[in-house]
Amino acid sequence: MLKSSYLQRIYDQTLARDPDQPEFHQAVMEFLESIDLVIDQHPQYEQCGLLERFVEPERVISFRVPWVDDQGKVQVNRGYRVQFNSAIGPYKGGLRFHPTVNLSILKFLGFEQILKNSLTGLPMGGAKGGSDFDPKGKSDAEVMRFCQSFMTELSRHIGQFVDVPAGDINVGAREIGYLYGQYRRMRNSVDAGVLTGKGLSFGGSLVRTEATGYGLCYLTQEMLKCMKGDSFEGKTVAISGSGNVAIFACQKAMELGGKVVAMSDSTGYIHDPDGIKLDVVKSIKLERRGRIQEYADQVPGSSYTKGFQGIWTIPCDIALPCATQNEIDGKIARIIIANGTIAVAEGANMPCRPEAIEAFIQAGVLFAPAKAANAGGVATSGLEMCQNSARYSWSFEEVDQKLKDIMINIFHNAYDTSVRYGVPGNLLVGANLAAFDKVADAMMAQGII
Ligand code: NDP
Repeated sequence: MLKSSYLQRIYDQTLARDPDQPEFHQAVMEFLESIDLVIDQHPQYEQCGLLERFVEPERVISFRVPWVDDQGKVQVNRGYRVQFNSAIGPYKGGLRFHPTVNLSILKFLGFEQILKNSLTGLPMGGAKGGSDFDPKGKSDAEVMRFCQSFMTELSRHIGQFVDVPAGDINVGAREIGYLYGQYRRMRNSVDAGVLTGKGLSFGGSLVRTEATGYGLCYLTQEMLKCMKGDSFEGKTVAISGSGNVAIFACQKAMELGGKVVAMSDSTGYIHDPDGIKLDVVKSIKLERRGRIQEYADQVPGSSYTKGFQGIWTIPCDIALPCATQNEIDGKIARIIIANGTIAVAEGANMPCRPEAIEAFIQAGVLFAPAKAANAGGVATSGLEMCQNSARYSWSFEEVDQKLKDIMINIFHNAYDTSVRYGVPGNLLVGANLAAFDKVADAMMAQGII
């Protein structure tokens, strides 16, 4: 129950309007609980219906994606784009291709994206999109035909000043390449700023591939330093997932002196007490699109166990959930706490359920919420847009330094805000309030739209 009757009404209306969207409700509630602390200081928000507008997407697009498989059979998937909020800049957010994709998941991701993008300090609104298409087991030609069909419709709704999609689960360099190719063909325009995460030969930015994982570790390192006088040095680390975010989080955590002992995919996890050999993981996951189980066949001394949530039974000092939403519930959180973990930082979006976050905060485990911790990906997408606009590209070191600066700023912004509102160290509240402040200002200034 929220303290403010206005906020409770917003939540009740959200539930009543779309009762079948649990992930979206969860994201809205997490945000409203933070705003509850300060809403009394802003009576103008209620007068202007600010939060009613904030929880309703500006536009939701849903469309048919027909394509032909390798057997010549017609397949039909559903495509979406949720253009949630453009008060501070063009809509910006990734595309996810996964059988679980539905409006609830895309609205939660789009909603989070508004706040995350605000935290980066760059002028980007919030959006998310994708399809229930599953690229697993599909040939390159099938993935290409699907991407071309998806973009044929999506191209009507995006543009460098309108909406700039990027990757997310199962949308990496291959998919972005096909999507961009089709956009360019349809528009007869080399409009590189329309998508981010592009290949380096056609307008992509150095460090974009590594950015979310690297950024996660930069922010975690700053959190450890400022809140505990500590660092990655000599720490054991467990990382769920073995996709884009997980792999580059692993790389940076090791560079910073940590020892990564466990990783996973959707079917199980590997444990390597001597430290994960990242080149083996990269070759399985990035080159062959294989299963993480193969790691245990190749690396003596390591083991594979079925079931992706079991990874959190492995003791670690630092936990970096980098797979998907709601993988850590209250029960798993208690195992993580009992194992003596000192910090949890979310690489994935909303990987921890509310009761897990509550348990970490109560137990004094440092907790970095996704909208702060994984903002490095979209921040570097913002830097890719800058480079595309300037028809220029920066060196790896330049982009990496800018990414590092942005992540350190995000930590301090969230931390200082938590102190200002009397909940020192609660980075969830700090990040929500710091992010919302800017979007609310912009929405108030632009009138009732
Ligand atoms: P990838 O597709 O590259 O990797 C996803 C990883 O998570 C894979 O190992 C996959 O296993 C695993 N996974 C996917 N779905 C599930 C599931 N339902 N249960 C358990 N494991 C699962 O995606 P990314 O690394 O890009 O994204 C990971 C997370 O990070 C997502 O929450 C995404 O929204 C978030 N994120 C990504 C950003 C980016 O720049 N890419 C930016 C900010 C956030 P398998 O191989 O078996 O499918």
